[in-house]
Amino acid sequence: MQLPLPIPDLPPDQAPHEVPRRRRVYVNRNLRLDCVTMVGFDMDYTLAIYDQGPMDRLSIDATVRKLVGELGYPECLLDAPFRTDFPIRGLLVDRELGNVLKMDRYRYVKKAYHGMQELSREERHKRYHSRPIRPGTSRYHWVDTLYGLSEVTVFSGAIEQLDRVGIEIDRAKLFDDIRRSIDLSHQDGSILNKILSHKEHYLRKDPELPTALHRLKSAGKGLFLLTNSHAPYTEEVMSYLFDGRLNGYSSWRSFFDVIVTAARKPDFFRKDDISFTVPGGAPVDSLEKGSIYAGGCLAELVRLADVDGDSVLYVGDHIYGDVLRAKKESAWRTMMIIQEMDSELRVHEEITPLLDRMDQLEAIRDLLHEELRRRVARLKELGRGLERAREAGTSTTEIGARRVHQKRHVDRLKARLRDLDRELEDLEERVDRSFHPFWGSLFKAGPEVSLFGDQVEQYACLYTDRVSNVLQYSPMHYFRSPRDRMPHELY
Ligand SMILES: [Mg+2]
Repeated sequence: MQLPLPIPDLPPDQAPHEVPRRRRVYVNRNLRLDCVTMVGFDMDYTLAIYDQGPMDRLSIDATVRKLVGELGYPECLLDAPFRTDFPIRGLLVDRELGNVLKMDRYRYVKKAYHGMQELSREERHKRYHSRPIRPGTSRYHWVDTLYGLSEVTVFSGAIEQLDRVGIEIDRAKLFDDIRRSIDLSHQDGSILNKILSHKEHYLRKDPELPTALHRLKSAGKGLFLLTNSHAPYTEEVMSYLFDGRLNGYSSWRSFFDVIVTAARKPDFFRKDDISFTVPGGAPVDSLEKGSIYAGGCLAELVRLADVDGDSVLYVGDHIYGDVLRAKKESAWRTMMIIQEMDSELRVHEEITPLLDRMDQLEAIRDLLHEELRRRVARLKELGRGLERAREAGTSTTEIGARRVHQKRHVDRLKARLRDLDRELEDLEERVDRSFHPFWGSLFKAGPEVSLFGDQVEQYACLYTDRVSNVLQYSPMHYFRSPRDRMPHELY
């Protein structure tokens, strides 16, 4: 909400600019853009936005061909139900049992699937609620990139199919084979070559992207590219996205002061003794504008390009490889690109009446519980009175009648609470399904923040749907987080 300037005789000189919710940059930690001198970008899923459906299909086809053709998995996998709409980011794969889990920020498993079948509440409790889940161990694999979604699709689809035809397999090995097959398909070019020969099918061109980068440069900020993709692929993708799109820029390279490919993030942030090289060539001791380099490490980048401290803003899509590591190993500020934001925000707007109704029911439930507690205490008191009257041999008629009356109220309250719980459960189910048919919202797990949402909150100073959303703000903008309050400060 925009308030009028509280200064007499000084009206605002133009109508306030309200940024539409889907174009906003959201703020976890205050950031003054005027203090940022360098802005770094990851490429894949950050500057280069891929169309997730066709990308998944490409990985799935290549992987299944390798599993059946080269690793000897049963041919029935060729007709397995590989649903690209099954996974979301932030899931945990239980390699041992072949399950996929979604957790809240307290690592409590809120939903679980075996193959494409949801585990019952009892099964989920039995498997995962007796001791804490340890996501960092070899049993579990955390899916935090869009690139990793196809691994879940193939794993769950394969388990579903193998269960259906009654073939027992080592599930952990299956998952490792799937991951290896996808990696191999990337390395042997079967995926990348297809993307490059049909770029328009896999890559989305954001018409505002070159202007967004230009705006940052015009405000005096240096730009750098830091991608794990190799130089030839980077060159083709970046040319497709930037070349010939904006006057004054002869090629995509002229947008950047430093260009680093094959960076091997997250190791890039941890190692301190890896030199930059010309791609496939000798180490270098300076970084020239317009040239493409490979490898390197954070310490070298700081030494050669002066990108140190909290005046650097790094923009990436990967919680661990881009955002968390940058945050832990440097003072860089971070902005996370979450391309699911667009649909999350759209659904959120649509279901506002359902969320309001849930708030209302929860408030009524609290009142009813309080009333029930009082009436149950009164009922017990009447029970004791009845007992005493019997022992004393006095009349129990009146107290007995009062007890029956009270019991009726208690039963009515209990029945109302049961109805209310059912309605709340139905509403929660509808809310979840509106976000995603299998997992609900990316950022929530039931009423709690999901583990993925928690990581975004912890590690990303800013988050938004796409890079060009920065155009909605001045390059001097002060991004302020909603004031952080603890529960005891709320009322
Ligand atoms: Mg990326």
